[in-house]
Amino acid sequence: MLRRTKIVATLGPATNDKESLEAIIRAGVDVVRMNFSHGSAEDHMKRAEIVRAAAASAGRTVGILADLQGPKIRVRKFENDKIVLNPGDKFILDAEWSALGNQERVGLDYKELPNDVVKGDVLLLNDGMLEFDVVEVKGSQVVCKVVRGGVLSNNKGINRKGGGLTAPALTDKDKEDIKTAALIHADYLAVSFPRSADDMKLARELMHAAGGKSLLMAKIERAEAIPVLGEIIDASDAIMVARGDLSVEVGDAAVPGLQKRMIKMARARNKLVITATQMMESMINNPIPTRAEVSDVANAVLDGTDAVMLSAETAVGDYPVETIEAMVRICIQAESELESSAADHRLEHSKFNRVDQSIAMSALYAASHFKVKAIVALTQSGSTALWMSRVNAGAPIFALTPTKGTLSKVTLFSGVHPISFHPTSKDPSATLIEAENELLKKGAVQDGDLIVMTIGEAVGKAGHTNTMKIVRVGDHRKD
Ligand code: PGA
Ligand code: MN
Repeated sequence: MLRRTKIVATLGPATNDKESLEAIIRAGVDVVRMNFSHGSAEDHMKRAEIVRAAAASAGRTVGILADLQGPKIRVRKFENDKIVLNPGDKFILDAEWSALGNQERVGLDYKELPNDVVKGDVLLLNDGMLEFDVVEVKGSQVVCKVVRGGVLSNNKGINRKGGGLTAPALTDKDKEDIKTAALIHADYLAVSFPRSADDMKLARELMHAAGGKSLLMAKIERAEAIPVLGEIIDASDAIMVARGDLSVEVGDAAVPGLQKRMIKMARARNKLVITATQMMESMINNPIPTRAEVSDVANAVLDGTDAVMLSAETAVGDYPVETIEAMVRICIQAESELESSAADHRLEHSKFNRVDQSIAMSALYAASHFKVKAIVALTQSGSTALWMSRVNAGAPIFALTPTKGTLSKVTLFSGVHPISFHPTSKDPSATLIEAENELLKKGAVQDGDLIVMTIGEAVGKAGHTNTMKIVRVGDHRKD
């Protein structure tokens, strides 16, 4: 059975070499996240090359998501990579400290922290795992008392309870990293901690100026983003329900409801959505997930997320392959409970102002009422596949495209399966037969299957889809 929900895996030491990468890709990874908080431009370029080589060996298309560090206030690195802090310990976050960290203090990426906090503030580190009280701000030093202790390792994040830090979404480092993302042809560019639609617009301008074509993803992880969610989504191509930082900023109990709201809003606006952070957290060290993690992944699927994401589980975990296998199994089973909903979807409120969108929605409607085996979109830009994928019509959508960038972008669209397709004919009817043969060759359809196909009569032009055809596979050979 084909899986609808996509799996995003964050890369790290556990998945750096080609063999480990190929193993997780074979297990089911659709998109890899390259965390720009770690590594140099050269590292990212090398890594992108390895990802594409591993995907080619595995015979799968894999998308690349470049995730900007953003103004996340992070500790710098430690002498021995990590320390253990106990309640009552004094610990200094020092904006001027350029050496490696130790048991007494650690440096900061974000130099403004001492200006942004005051005595009495509560700081939460490592996604809220550790809690510090600010007891004094002395020049560049934020002197803290540990309230809740634990392990603090390299580059872990710091949040202020309640949000409200002043840092702009794009740092100078991010602006440089956007150029790297463009250079490696990242399919998606994630902006961390956007506060407004303007943050996303600026990132898009910089991406275009760098000659990149990445789709823009807003990570929703700041309290300030919630009241302007609609505007941020409209200015983006995709969002991430970034539960790690969001939980710390708005309080953990608010997040499940927000997750559902965000997924609904994104889909209704023809945008993509990833649900992220701690989905299989216990699998960092265990070969099986907890019951609660199984439910969490399944519920994200039932909420209608395009993708579920893994962070440390695949970046530094002991069981990256087992984690992907578990996610695959949970997604597929949860999907069998999904109700297909295209039958009456968007009939009342939608107005299509484009020919290609009207064709995409017609195909979807026909597919859901006529119980076809597959929806087949011959697409250049991927737009038709995106519109079709915003509703679950109960049939897989095959996106056939000659465009490399489109092939790797649709890896994130729920229910859409990329197929590389280079038609030799300019004639639409002949092209559809070529497409049918390609699907047969891939085992995607069988003789006798009823399928819905969409195509532009001007074959090969983006935005020109104007035709829908319902065919029974193999019938053209009977003529
Ligand atoms: P991060 O983003 O892993 O880059 O912090 C995701 C989140 O905050 O949930
Ligand atoms: Mn985050």
